[in-house]
Amino acid sequence: MEQVLLQAAERIRVAKYLTAFSGAGISVESGIPPFRGPGGIWNKYDPAILDLDVFIRQPERAWPAIKEMFLGFLSTEGEGGVQPNAAHNVLAKWEAAGRLKAVITQNIDGLHVAAGSRDVVEYHGHCRSLVCLDCGARLPLNEETTQAPVPRCSCGGLLKPDFVFFGEGIPPEAMAAAERAARRTDCMILVGTSGVVYPAAALPMLAKQNGATIIEVNPGRSDYTASIVDIFIPLKAGEAFERLEQLVG
Ligand SMILES: [Zn+2]
Repeated sequence: MEQVLLQAAERIRVAKYLTAFSGAGISVESGIPPFRGPGGIWNKYDPAILDLDVFIRQPERAWPAIKEMFLGFLSTEGEGGVQPNAAHNVLAKWEAAGRLKAVITQNIDGLHVAAGSRDVVEYHGHCRSLVCLDCGARLPLNEETTQAPVPRCSCGGLLKPDFVFFGEGIPPEAMAAAERAARRTDCMILVGTSGVVYPAAALPMLAKQNGATIIEVNPGRSDYTASIVDIFIPLKAGEAFERLEQLVG
């Protein structure tokens, strides 16, 4: 393990355009349950509630679960609120120090932004705001704006949380920014991502095709491990980044 960490730290130190690509695994140590797998969110809720068509046709069915999820265990507010962990924090520090250029995340929990990362591509959106499906107006997502059983805009339109629902396209700006970073990076660190959610999952392949070294931090092997990964660190995100930070200096 020590050897692998040293090798990764050396590669990170000499990178000219270091990027990170994160998935649900980076936030598990912050207390956010993964969407898939045992104990996952989709064991408790029907994923159909976050399908755009279902949401538009039956918003009264989707909203109670959305409120429970996003004002409950995904909330960063107050005492019990979720907080960034060492992995988010080290990435933010590296960016502030000029070492890391961008984070591309598939997560909607907003923890990279909460940790202080600035150049963050939130590929699947985030849950800080609501968008009106009729007029495009945006409001913050909080207790106040989601009081009604089915929250509506002042124009009467349906308000939808600002993350990408199933059956909805990736926001074009996010897609373009992520692809730019993936083409430009010479070293991409994959953190806690299984590589099964497309089109996001293709970004590390794009980086690899453009000559990047791929480092993977993941307690278990993913679809990437045997195919494109150069350096595999089989640790949880928080521990891996604490140790990498010490080694990178
Ligand atoms: Zn509106």
